[in-house]
Amino acid sequence: MEFRDLKKQYEVLKPEIDRAMIETAKSSHYIMGQSVKDLESSLAKYVGVNYCKSCSNGTDALTLALKVWDIGVGDAVFVPDFTFFASAEVVALQGATPIFVDVDNDTFNIDALSLEEAIKAVIKEGKLKPKVIIAVDLFGLPANFHEIRKIADKYNLFILEDGAQGFGGMIGDKRACSFGDIATTSFFPAKPLGCYGDGGAVFTDNEQWASLIDSYRVHGKGSFKYDNVRIGLNSRLDTIQAAILQVKFKAFQDYELKDVNNAAMLYTEKLQGKVKTPIIRDGFYSSWAQYTIILNSKEERDALQIKLKDNGIPSMVYYPTPMSKQTAFKEMKMYVETPNSMMLSGCVLSLPIHPYITEEEINKVIENIE
Ligand SMILES: *Cc1c(COP(=O)(O)O)cnc(C)c1O
Repeated sequence: MEFRDLKKQYEVLKPEIDRAMIETAKSSHYIMGQSVKDLESSLAKYVGVNYCKSCSNGTDALTLALKVWDIGVGDAVFVPDFTFFASAEVVALQGATPIFVDVDNDTFNIDALSLEEAIKAVIKEGKLKPKVIIAVDLFGLPANFHEIRKIADKYNLFILEDGAQGFGGMIGDKRACSFGDIATTSFFPAKPLGCYGDGGAVFTDNEQWASLIDSYRVHGKGSFKYDNVRIGLNSRLDTIQAAILQVKFKAFQDYELKDVNNAAMLYTEKLQGKVKTPIIRDGFYSSWAQYTIILNSKEERDALQIKLKDNGIPSMVYYPTPMSKQTAFKEMKMYVETPNSMMLSGCVLSLPIHPYITEEEINKVIENIE
């Protein structure tokens, strides 16, 4: 059994993907070719924002957003303590200070109460200037943007939506990557919409920010490529990745997103009353980057993972270490306690899930959990 079966996906899409790759090879427009432009406009339309700017990966996408807002030394950026390292790494890389905030036990996403408490503590201390909230759509579920927006407005902060795992999710009829003032996603192969290497994108409605991203992603270019008006990055999406993504995006819209939701529903139905399953609140829709259960203790979690492995079932611990306990961040000051993040890192286990998983495979996982 595969944790995320990218081989099976390739088998299904092979004729179209092979054609896309060969066409790109023939075109010789390997950088910023037509597929990049076409992909950007179809992604913007799907998400429901004015601008999509592709880039080299989801981490650069976050960095580009922070650069647009000129985030640096002395700025406080609020980040969930329970997330992938990149969400906080980009803040420190800009010279700003990540402030770790706790998450909600049911949704794995940033907790509004903890967020506001952290903002107040930073303001009270008076050393750092609160600037940005990075809200992560963890495991495919959009963060609680209704609550987060209220807090952002109250304290005059930007929202950066880290939608690396969230592409395709929804709140009501609005898509993930449309909730932040700027939102980002990743096309890393294992994400809900992945390419055959690294890739990412930035989304916004703001024309001025979109044109700044255009500049920052190509060495801070001005009116032409060899006019450099600011310090930027080399962060473009390869044409061949865009061409592959065009094929995969069609499958994603046609059936993959529905099928992965059906798989998640099956898991939840069959695991009811046996382990704590993910909770999707009313009006929310997940793209199921992960299907993550919570066990009663680290011992129970670790024992289950070994048992699954012995029976040929891969599982993963996303994430074993909260940001605040990472060696790279051990000097960071904590403004709030993060007990939920601590508990989750010890007790979570992500099960195999993807659009091509079969009911038999799900049944086998469930039998072993039972
Ligand atoms: C994967 C991921 C990123 C980084 O994306 P890359 O394309 O790997 O750079 C950032 N944030 C979260 C939450 C992620 O899961």
